[in-house]
Amino acid sequence: MFRQRFAVLAAAVLAGAGLLTAAATSEADAAAACEGGYVALTYDDGPNPSTTQSLLTALRNAGARATFFNTGQRVQQNPGLAQAQVAAGHWIANHSWSHPHLTQLSAAQITQELSQTQSAIQQATGVTPRLFRPPYGETNGTVQSVEAQLGLREVIWSVDSQDWNGASTAQIVNAANSLQAGGVILMHDAYQTTISAVPQIVSNLAGRGLCPGMISPTTGRAVAPDGSGTPTTPPPAGGSCTATYAETQRWGDRFNGQVTIRAGSAAITSWTSTVTLTGGQRVSTTWNGTPAWDSTGLIMTMRPNGNGNLSPGASTTFGFTVMANGTWSAPAVACRTP
Ligand SMILES: [Zn+2]
Repeated sequence: MFRQRFAVLAAAVLAGAGLLTAAATSEADAAAACEGGYVALTYDDGPNPSTTQSLLTALRNAGARATFFNTGQRVQQNPGLAQAQVAAGHWIANHSWSHPHLTQLSAAQITQELSQTQSAIQQATGVTPRLFRPPYGETNGTVQSVEAQLGLREVIWSVDSQDWNGASTAQIVNAANSLQAGGVILMHDAYQTTISAVPQIVSNLAGRGLCPGMISPTTGRAVAPDGSGTPTTPPPAGGSCTATYAETQRWGDRFNGQVTIRAGSAAITSWTSTVTLTGGQRVSTTWNGTPAWDSTGLIMTMRPNGNGNLSPGASTTFGFTVMANGTWSAPAVACRTP
C-alpha cells in the first residue's frame, strides 16, 4: 500500500517535471506488480484448431505468458499452431502422444508416448521440452523413470480449474484466486469458458501482486519469466504427503500391494511410509523403495530409492508381496515427511 502511494506520488512529481515517460511508468508498475511472486498458467491437450488462436489472443491482450502441455499427436496435426505458441513467447511442454492412462502401459509404451512427442515438438518448433505432465496427473515409478531418461521434469498442478469438468468462466476465475506464489493451475486449450477467464484471472493476480511466470524445470514451481529466482516463496520445509493402499494381485498364498505416495500442496524432498501387517503376514519382496523392518517383522518402513522429490500434488508408488499365512486383510499404510 505504501509503495503504491509512493509510486503515484513519484509519478505525479515526475509528470509535473515533465520527466516521466510511458516506458518508465510501465516498468515501475511491472516491478511493483510482481512483488508477491509468480504463478504458472498452464493449458493442456492442444494445440486445437478451434481454440488455440483465440487463447493466444486473450493471453497477448492480458500481457500474460503461459505453458502449453501439448500432445504430440496434435502438434503433428497442427504444427503451425505449436509454432504460434512459441512465437508468442509461451513455453511448450510434453503431455504424451495420445493422452493414454500411462500407468496402465509398459515402460516401452510409455517411452514411445513421451519420446515421440519430444520429436514432434522439436520438429515443429525447434524447442526441446523440459517439462512433462502425465495425462490425468497419473504417474508411477515407471513413468518417472522414463521422464528422467528423457530429461523431463514432471509437473502436476497445485490448483485444478475444473474447466474440463464443465466449470463456468466465473468458477475458473475463482479457482485461480486460490493460486499461491510458485503454484501451477491446470486449464485446457479446448474451452471458450477458459479463454474468457484469461483477462479476469490476470487482473485478479495483479491485484494480489502475482504475475504469470514460467515453470522451473529444476523445481517444477512457477518462477519469473526469465527463469530467475525472483520472489517466489520456497516450499515450506517438510511439506506433507499421503499414502494410499491398493491390492494389485492375489494368488493362493500371497498378494501384491501397491502404495501411492502423494505430495500435498507443497513440494517435498523426501518421504517415509510405514506399512503395518497383521497376523502371520510377512513381506517376501519389495520394489521401488528401500525397506527397513522393526523387530516384530510386522512394520515395514519404506523410503524412496534415490531422492524423494515430489512436486505439489505429484505421486509415486512402491510395491511389495505379502505372504498371507492365512491373513488376507489389507495392511495399514501411512506417510510422513521427511
Ligand atoms: Zn490432458
